[in-house]
Amino acid sequence: MITTPTPQSLRTSPDAAGFFGNYGGIFVPPGLEAPLAEVREAYEVVSRSHDFIEELRRIRRHFQGRPTPVYHAARLSKKLGRTQIYLKREDLNHTGAHKLNHCMGEGLLARHMGKKKLIAETGAGQHGVALATAAAYFGLECDIYMGEVDMAKQAPNVARMKILGARVIPATHGLRTLKEAVDAALTAYVKDPVNQVYCIGSVVGPHPFPMMVRDFQQVVGIEAREQFIEMTGNLPDIVAACVGGGSNAMGIFSGFIDDAVELHGVEPLGKGPNMGDHSASMTYGREGIIHGFRCYLLQDEKGEPAPVHSIASGLDYPGVGPEHCNLKDTKRVGYFTATDKEAVEAFYVLSRNEGIIPALESAHALAHAMRLARANPEQPRTVLVNLSGRGDKDMDYMIEHYGTGDDYII
Ligand SMILES: *Cc1c(COP(=O)(O)O)cnc(C)c1O
Repeated sequence: MITTPTPQSLRTSPDAAGFFGNYGGIFVPPGLEAPLAEVREAYEVVSRSHDFIEELRRIRRHFQGRPTPVYHAARLSKKLGRTQIYLKREDLNHTGAHKLNHCMGEGLLARHMGKKKLIAETGAGQHGVALATAAAYFGLECDIYMGEVDMAKQAPNVARMKILGARVIPATHGLRTLKEAVDAALTAYVKDPVNQVYCIGSVVGPHPFPMMVRDFQQVVGIEAREQFIEMTGNLPDIVAACVGGGSNAMGIFSGFIDDAVELHGVEPLGKGPNMGDHSASMTYGREGIIHGFRCYLLQDEKGEPAPVHSIASGLDYPGVGPEHCNLKDTKRVGYFTATDKEAVEAFYVLSRNEGIIPALESAHALAHAMRLARANPEQPRTVLVNLSGRGDKDMDYMIEHYGTGDDYII
């Protein structure tokens, strides 16, 4: 069961060492401690600076196109029963997903710190594109580390990053995917922390990143709460979001954390519960350390991060943000799963019934909302789904593997 009314304002976490309950912290090689402390101290200053906050507000409004709307998916809702589904349209944020919310914050922080270059790794390329966009906006250099295998798979995003002026640097060791790209980016960071700053892509990594990214994503929840009340006169009964690293979920949840609203995180169950077939870290993982922080982690018998899968490349990470782990333990948030198959259905159903093609990541949250609606067709509940991104990036894959979706018409 999910407990709702206990207020647990996020302002009280993490603690000074960066822990959310048992999770988070800083587990890094000595070379990274000083650069992280520099980021932490700079963030402490700017997060209280009127000028910084004003400038970020201006950027959100005039460059990103915020606020993004909340939309009542009335036609879809009607087909499913009496549950009313609403969408927070982060797909309409500039670059087509919520990731730009924290990338613009990180870019502005980098400029305040006097850095010349933003660096990061990227898996499918979504974070790389958002960060390259921020770098272009602020006139900063940008190096994106990407596994050689991923570069071949995600050619359009590699092209986007290059057009935006970023250098895309292939990680050529090991399996040549995301993990190797993280290694390469961190190695580069340690070599020159004076001119460069590392910009993470979700509420993961060592302190202060999970806190900082959450704070930058909070705008999603603050807007959504106000918009939902204005539209309906009430709070939603349930707020749902997909969870990869957990940034879009923390963003929307933070707007409702102190309200009597159920919060549902939806993890990718991929092809099923066997190891290697999914990336449901909180549902099947156990405590471990990855990329400098402690969290629920999918591990093999030797304690190494397990291989993971999801049809949504933005969700296939063996770890998860530390704050989510704590929200699971304290039962403030309920964590559920959706399979590849359910996400595929939701992808086509939303496209056909509402004229909105969702990202496959976001389709997981929508699939969960559809399941709730079908399970209780007579119950007039409201569910607000964070539609974290648009599906343009997924269209070629979907057409090739599932066709135009005629089998999914409801
Ligand atoms: C990257 C991505 C996600 C997953 O990241 P979180 O940090 O879990 O939010 C979800 N949706 C979209 C559209 C993405 O690009």
